[in-house]
Amino acid sequence: MDRTEELLRRLTEASGVPGFEAEVRALIRGELEGIAAIEQDRIGSIVCRKEGTQAAPRIMLAAHMDEIGFMVKQITKEGHLRFVPLGGWWEQVMLAQRVVVKTAKGDVPGILGAKPPHILTPDERNKVVEKRDMYIDIGATSREEAEQIGVRPGDPVVPVSAFTPLAGGKTYLGKAWDDRVGCALFIQAIQRLAGESHPNTVYGVGTVQEEVGLRGAKTTAYVVNPDVAIILESDIAYDVPGMNHEEPLVALGKGPSLLVFDAGMIPNTRLRDLAVETAAALGIPLQFSSLEGGRTDGSIIHLHNAGVPTIVLGVAARHIHSHTGVIHRDDYDRLLALLVALIKRLDAETVSALMQ
Ligand SMILES: [Zn+2]
Repeated sequence: MDRTEELLRRLTEASGVPGFEAEVRALIRGELEGIAAIEQDRIGSIVCRKEGTQAAPRIMLAAHMDEIGFMVKQITKEGHLRFVPLGGWWEQVMLAQRVVVKTAKGDVPGILGAKPPHILTPDERNKVVEKRDMYIDIGATSREEAEQIGVRPGDPVVPVSAFTPLAGGKTYLGKAWDDRVGCALFIQAIQRLAGESHPNTVYGVGTVQEEVGLRGAKTTAYVVNPDVAIILESDIAYDVPGMNHEEPLVALGKGPSLLVFDAGMIPNTRLRDLAVETAAALGIPLQFSSLEGGRTDGSIIHLHNAGVPTIVLGVAARHIHSHTGVIHRDDYDRLLALLVALIKRLDAETVSALMQ
């Protein structure tokens, strides 16, 4: 396992549902302390400032630390846990999956359950079980027992999924690629820049609570006050059976993706073109994607102050918003190389020419 693989493993196996990102934050701090000046906003986001040869422009690299998960809402008298989903879950991928309840007394394992099929009516059996009819079984037999183990309403619940290299190590399976892959990218970009000259100040930012409403994007844009923002994200891979395209829009292993549109932002076209040119100069293939049914932190950051030229660069992942996702190592490595090269080109003159 090389350094990158080990970093990705640690990041995806860390727990960090919205509002409970401390483990991920500590990991980022551990990687960048000594290279960057580190501060936080007041809701838990981390801002890592790496100075280059010039104080400005300020380049914000943003990735969200949170992953989709749950929160304990209520303990039933039989000792089961009713929950609130944190982020967008699709019912089809939830049942029988393992989770961990992070309690004040320690980790409590459990699984997501629902009524067994044998007792459902034929009509019910043909329907997707709704989230509100699911519960978390921690093996307790009474409310008192669950409380004694340490479970309380408000406790975060995190999916369980061990990092696993697939296909001879070319692809990686894990939870929370959305958006730990982005966290890994800004960590490694800043580590690479530590030994090199860049004509700006780079801010590696881990935002909180993206999955419940892009909240850390707002507070960190205030802290950084960026001149340019690059959002680092996972993207949707379309190379799976049943997709309604003759050619997949984005496929694993075919290069980093550049978002040309999302439901909350039309990216800055000059910054987009600069990314395209930089990729071409490096011989890195790019995939163009669009996200008509979703937004990123960019939709908040690009509207900060009088506006911030912003783009979104991504690593395609299969099965996002579930317990498992699959990414391709080549896409990650190429995006890291592109990101570092792009940062080096963002001097004061180039950035002042980005205004639309
Ligand atoms: Zn995301």
